[in-house]
Amino acid sequence: MRLAFDVVVVGGGPAGAVAARQLAQNGAGVLLVEASRYDRYRIGEVMDAYGRYLLCQLGMEHVLESVKAVQCDGVVSAWGTDDLAVRPAIKNQHGAAMILNRRRFDAALANEAARAGATVWLGTVATSVRPTREGFLLELASGTKRTGVSCERLVDATGRRATFVRRLGGTQRIRDRMVGLGRRLSASDDEKDAFQSVLLLESVTQGYWYSVPVGRRKVMAVLMTDGDLAKIARPWRTALVSSAHTLSRLEATGKRSKLDRWDARSLISREPAKLLVVAAGDAAMACDPLAADGIVRAIRSGQAAAVAVMAGADAIHELGAQRQRAFTEYEAERANTYAIERRYGQLPFWARRLPPSPPVPITIDPLALVRAVEATAASRARAEALIDPSAVRAILRSAGAEGRTAVDVLARARAASPGLTPDEKWVSALELLVRGGALSTDS
Ligand SMILES: Cc1cc2nc3c(=O)[nH]c(=O)nc-3n(C[C@H](O)[C@H](O)[C@H](O)COP(=O)(O)OP(=O)(O)OC[C@H]3O[C@@H](n4cnc5c(N)ncnc54)[C@H](O)[C@@H]3O)c2cc1C
Repeated sequence: MRLAFDVVVVGGGPAGAVAARQLAQNGAGVLLVEASRYDRYRIGEVMDAYGRYLLCQLGMEHVLESVKAVQCDGVVSAWGTDDLAVRPAIKNQHGAAMILNRRRFDAALANEAARAGATVWLGTVATSVRPTREGFLLELASGTKRTGVSCERLVDATGRRATFVRRLGGTQRIRDRMVGLGRRLSASDDEKDAFQSVLLLESVTQGYWYSVPVGRRKVMAVLMTDGDLAKIARPWRTALVSSAHTLSRLEATGKRSKLDRWDARSLISREPAKLLVVAAGDAAMACDPLAADGIVRAIRSGQAAAVAVMAGADAIHELGAQRQRAFTEYEAERANTYAIERRYGQLPFWARRLPPSPPVPITIDPLALVRAVEATAASRARAEALIDPSAVRAILRSAGAEGRTAVDVLARARAASPGLTPDEKWVSALELLVRGGALSTDS
């Protein structure tokens, strides 16, 4: 017999767990499905102070105590300058941020969902979905066991992949190729207070470093860069040597864990029209970890998704419109933050994140023959600040080595990369690719 639920929430990160808890509290029959058993390291350790306020409002403040969250004493950063600037925790109106063991924290939130009445299946992967007249049919796998469940409504909280929104016909706009490369390092035996409880941020040519103490006398050090820029020998080590403060913080470390890699792309998803499926957390909108608000956003987004999925298609649509406004604001803020770093503005990682200002004067003749000649990271970078990297690739592919007229290139690229990019941005991106040397023109 197939099991039936009102709502299935796929993904037991903070977004999914909070959504499942809220749905159960409101009387829905909910299944929360999580692939892991929270048994491996989970990234994203610093929760903004606002998170404590949110948990308090939701009646879950006790979770912080139960997972032994530690106060973060502030942020120390070298951004735009070699010198360190200190932002003490006291300056935040909500108090101190918290350093969390995410494995414990995420497990505790899933436990709160179970306490509220949600059925929680850990170690279970949702492998497929099919829309039906009544809602959805999902296949779940736990080891060799396969189970089918049906539900009227679905919450996709699977993280950046937004697996189920996409499988059901939703779309994603992916704005960059950011990845995090990180290791945990132990303090050497003779160091007592090796790592102060602060978050250290430092920009380097390849991207930026963040490091934060985790667990007993350990520090997590993550290089944030772009996937294509990380394709060099020993990218973590190379970037560490080019840093000053991060290198000095890690100098006295002993054992180090293997290198882990996390997807950190900025993106926004849009649900398919008319189906009762909603994205929550990173599956809905994911930001640069520099924003340090992923956990808070996931909690808020989980709550909002729970309300919208029960209210119906119009509410899901309205949530999507709000998300689009928030993403536009986020992109502007991100560009401002990156613009502070002027030392590396010409380098790909940084140039990709700058706003194209002033507007690019268009000099290309629409009928000029345009050819793809060289597509180095640097030659593409300014265009990638304007349109999605996949759209830039579509322009280069459409031009090809043989060449096509500029209008033809743009028409083909647009068809191959449908989305919300307005015409003038496509034209400006083409102009920037010519100026950067990724395209040549015969006029
Ligand atoms: C390098 C890095 C550093 C970060 N640092 C911070 C930070 O300091 N502070 C901060 O606030 N945020 C930080 N973030 C962001 C933060 O980690 C995320 O925003 C947050 O975890 C999003 O929560 P979520 O519930 O949406 O998704 P996730 O936490 O990604 O959870 C998604 C869950 O879905 C499960 N899942 C996926 N597919 C399936 C499936 N098919 N079936 C069943 N389960 C599935 C996964 O196992 C996972 O548990 C960082 C992110 C990165 C990449």
